[in-house]
Amino acid sequence: MKRYQIAIYIRLSKEDDRCKEESNSITMQRSLLERYVKDHFADYDLHEFCDDGYTGTNFERPGVQDMLERVRNNEINCIIVKDFSRFARDYIELGSYLEQIFPFLGVRFISLNDKYDSDNYQGSIADIDVNFKNLVYDLYSKDLSGKVRSALAVRKEQGQYVSGNSPFGYEKDPKDRHALLIAGDEAEVVRRIYSLTVEGYTASEIARLFNETHVKTPIEFKMEKGKTSRIPKGNRFMWTASTICQILRNEIYIGSIVQKKYEKDFVGGKNHIKPREEWLVSYGHHEPIIDRKVFDKVQEGRGKKRNPKRHPTHPLTGKLVCGCCSRNLSYRAGLNPYFTCKNRYSNAMDHCVDKANAMFLEQYILLMMQDKLETEGELERLTKDMIDRYIDKIVVCDEQRIEIFWKENSKVCGCRS
Ligand SMILES: [Zn+2]
Repeated sequence: MKRYQIAIYIRLSKEDDRCKEESNSITMQRSLLERYVKDHFADYDLHEFCDDGYTGTNFERPGVQDMLERVRNNEINCIIVKDFSRFARDYIELGSYLEQIFPFLGVRFISLNDKYDSDNYQGSIADIDVNFKNLVYDLYSKDLSGKVRSALAVRKEQGQYVSGNSPFGYEKDPKDRHALLIAGDEAEVVRRIYSLTVEGYTASEIARLFNETHVKTPIEFKMEKGKTSRIPKGNRFMWTASTICQILRNEIYIGSIVQKKYEKDFVGGKNHIKPREEWLVSYGHHEPIIDRKVFDKVQEGRGKKRNPKRHPTHPLTGKLVCGCCSRNLSYRAGLNPYFTCKNRYSNAMDHCVDKANAMFLEQYILLMMQDKLETEGELERLTKDMIDRYIDKIVVCDEQRIEIFWKENSKVCGCRS
């Protein structure tokens, strides 16, 4: 066995990704460490351990676990990292590895940026230096997320506008990013939506009228101003009744800002709307586009709560799109449940999907899946549970001008029209 069994340990966390700090990228860390080894060691074997997308606040990382296991088996006697925080951000744990575990196992530990090499570092001065750095890492790690969160909460409590995007009809004040200014061209569309509603038009009638007369959609306004690079699902962006409804109930147009409207049941859970009295509303935050009386009048005929039982969903909801216009198909329950494209009716697009029988679609997709799995020899290995999981992979489906995709890019069969 060669004298040194060197482990280079590389870690990239999600935070690094957000900061886009190139010096922390996997490739950069690897080339830095490899060069160091080449320049400073003669007789060695090199082993690489890597954790991509893991936080350094704990040791639950496959790469680090693998490495420590090899250390325990005496297969590694030297570890090299770019800086301490790559190996661990937890002060106590890092300290115990550096001061007790590694010396006990006879492992040399080198951290390049910290200019730390356990072979050269002995005595109390070194300890102070290392401990101080560790402490900083630890505090940095624990504090950063908390600080970001609390700063945001304070801004919200002060009634400041904190979203990154400006709402349709407004633009951010170039002098103060928490202030909103009226965007004339967009505000004109908002006013029209309200006045048409007062005249008695329904949301879907307004959407249809706008599509027929080619009124630009909110996203098209944004594109024109270079604020987004989104591409339309079909050939163009369309007004929908739900976009109109969102504009009709948004209090931003009477100068108010509503915050803390949603809450999560648990971390990572879904957002739920809170009771109105718990919302944080700041009145008179910015110049209104719509008169309060008009807004209230519009609300009178609206806001009747939808009964969720009357709007059942189907496992394929959100996974089927129209092969003609690419809009998500809507599910209609009943004796003969079916999927349909709303553009057929609301925008008189005659080529759109009319009625695609839901039970037929289920059977068809099941057959397609079996077919696909059989040709790939996977069927025997699959239990029913696994098939259920596969259903998520289906983004879209084909019959009566519907398309099927298995994964994002591999198109199985195309549009029939
Ligand atoms: Zn369609």
